[in-house]
Amino acid sequence: MDQAIRDNTGWLDAIQTDLVRELVTNGVAVLGAEDAEVVFDPDDNVSMVPHPRMHAYLDSYFQLEVSDPTNPENRERLKIRTGGRPTSKAEAAVLLEGGDADASYADLMLAAGTVEPIEMAAEARSAQIAILEELAEIHSTNRDRTPGLHCYMCSRIARCGQFPAPKGYRVGANERTIRLSKTDLLGLGVCDRRSAWKALHGIPKEENDDGNEASAIGLLFHDFVATATMSENPDAAFAQCLEQVSPEDAARLASLYGRHKTVEEGHVPVRVGRVEYEIGVTVPLRGAAATANGQVVSDRAVSVVVIARADAVGRESDNTPAVIEHRTGKTSDRIDERETALYAVSAARLLNVDTIAVHQHALGAKGEPKCERIVYGAEQLAEAEDLLVRTVETVAGWHPLDASEPSFSVGDWCAVCPFESRCQRHR
Ligand SMILES: [Zn+2]
Repeated sequence: MDQAIRDNTGWLDAIQTDLVRELVTNGVAVLGAEDAEVVFDPDDNVSMVPHPRMHAYLDSYFQLEVSDPTNPENRERLKIRTGGRPTSKAEAAVLLEGGDADASYADLMLAAGTVEPIEMAAEARSAQIAILEELAEIHSTNRDRTPGLHCYMCSRIARCGQFPAPKGYRVGANERTIRLSKTDLLGLGVCDRRSAWKALHGIPKEENDDGNEASAIGLLFHDFVATATMSENPDAAFAQCLEQVSPEDAARLASLYGRHKTVEEGHVPVRVGRVEYEIGVTVPLRGAAATANGQVVSDRAVSVVVIARADAVGRESDNTPAVIEHRTGKTSDRIDERETALYAVSAARLLNVDTIAVHQHALGAKGEPKCERIVYGAEQLAEAEDLLVRTVETVAGWHPLDASEPSFSVGDWCAVCPFESRCQRHR
């Protein structure tokens, strides 16, 4: 097996080779445990469900078929999962509905080294399929952009217009695109390796994952306030949201909501149009890119797309566009210029305006909650654009394939880094 891994990973760096070795070792341990025949990518590895009203199919794939030589009827079809998440409900519904009713389906979870059955009762399956069919119909006629977390996986992200490049710049069809979240952006200059591993190389997260309690409360708060904001009766809607959580969490969330209302009563009022809305910018740079035959060349056009989720966007009473961020962390009263620049430039380019207000609502820090409102005019927007370019410039130079290349920096932040132990093994 070692030889096979060496033969097939010659082009990978040490970090990714290790990762492949771990996953393959786990996979072989699981598959080898059974006296079974394994077929990779069998010919009939696709499940298809015809759409009842459109000339289209819903489809899903599996990668391995494992059968028992003494009893060929006994077949298991496996989807290979390299991340921590199993197959989604929507995909499971298509896989099972369009698949072979006599075979069983399962996820081969390589990181954990386990096999998890993919099962779904007929009723739940039909419900999922009906949703997918409806979405397919909506998408076939709807040309509106619907930004969301799926943007992180979209190949047209730099070209669709939701995350605009500077006026007049056209992103090339095959231009290398690197996407960063706001967190990745703010991590630049602290430890570039962390941002690169997450944003570019997709290295799986290990311990220290985001699951700490404070950030879990923060996520719930953002979700509940978004629901409340768009409701006719925000207080009642927020109270209803609190019914889903434990009394301790509800108390903390209610306290944050009280502080949120104090800020809302005191700041320049904003008529909110959208909540939890993905905005961002495309920064055109020159940097490294891989050619079709795997060569890495320099001085090519590279688009760095930075995406942020605005908690709320709307208009102030004099019609000035505004972006609001609810900050629930302990350091929420600290303003990071790169963050406000990102909100300002993103919204200004999207709306094609030269004045924009960015509200940072410090709710989590000690002392009175407050609204820090920064108004960007044409001149400030130009400065903000420069700041963003300077911040992400190094990203365009990241080697497209080599995860060992972006420099790391050791410090307090390592304690909450999801890559800490893997990073330590490769320093
Ligand atoms: Zn405000």
